[in-house]
This record gives sequence, structure tokens and C-alpha cells, in this order.
Amino acid sequence: MADLHAWTLQQISKREATALAATEGPWVRWADQEVIPGWDGFIMIGDDAADGEECNPVAKVNIVEDCEHITLNDPASVLRRCAADRKLIGDVVAERHILVEDCWYTCAAATEERDGGENCDDERRGGACDCGRDARVERRLRIVAEGYGWTESSDG
Ligand SMILES: [Zn+2]
Repeated sequence: MADLHAWTLQQISKREATALAATEGPWVRWADQEVIPGWDGFIMIGDDAADGEECNPVAKVNIVEDCEHITLNDPASVLRRCAADRKLIGDVVAERHILVEDCWYTCAAATEERDGGENCDDERRGGACDCGRDARVERRLRIVAEGYGWTESSDG
């Protein structure tokens, strides 16, 4: 597996940087004038909407739906989702390996520093995770990563 954790955080950073560089909202505002039959008025996007200046609408069939979509994806909204995903990822990767009172049965991958204990079998200690934690973390990271465009072909 490519480093899914790092990849996903990189994707979030890209979106945060783009959102921070974008014009602050409101992104879409309707003007009063009738511009094209069937339309309610001018569509103002980005700087034009923020400044209250009119601009020519882009011809689109689903202009109302498109503007609603743009409004729901303004920079503040994107930043909120990025922050929520960072929290979720932090929570997911914070899961510890399973420790058992009889350390013989503690996960092989557990470490004193990270998990607060380790396996006492010299042959297993430091081995691959055998408590399921790593598989759970990877599965959950993939779910978040898919929202950022990760696919199986992105792996490797
Ligand atoms: Zn484990």
C-alpha cells in the first residue's frame, strides 16, 4: 500500500490551500434583472458576487442547481470538511494495538511508546499487526481517501 495516510493528508492540504486562495463568499447571488427568459436574473460568481457587480451568466441548463452546488462548496464549506476529515483521520490512526494482560497475547506490532505495552515473545514482538488494528485503520483511511479521488489504481 502506498502511504494512504500521507496521500490523504496531502490531498486535504491541496484543497485547503485552494480554498484559502479563493475569493471569500458569497459566491453566488441573484440580481433582479431578467436576463434570459426563464432565468431569474444575473448570476454573480466569485469576486463579482462579493463586490455586488453583475457579470454575464454562463449558459447552463441547470443554472439554479449549479449555483446551489457552488454555494454549498464555497471555501468556508471546503475548509470545514477538510478540518473534519483531519479530525477523523487523526482519530482513526490513534487507535492502538490490542494489549492483553498476559503479554504473550498482546499484538506483535504493539510498542511500549505508542500502545503502552508490547508482546513478550521475542520471536513475535515487532512483527506485523495481528490484532486487526492496522487492517481497520487502512480500511477507514481508504474510505476517507476515496472522497479525495483515491482509487485502487492510485495505490502504487
Ligand atoms: Zn495490532
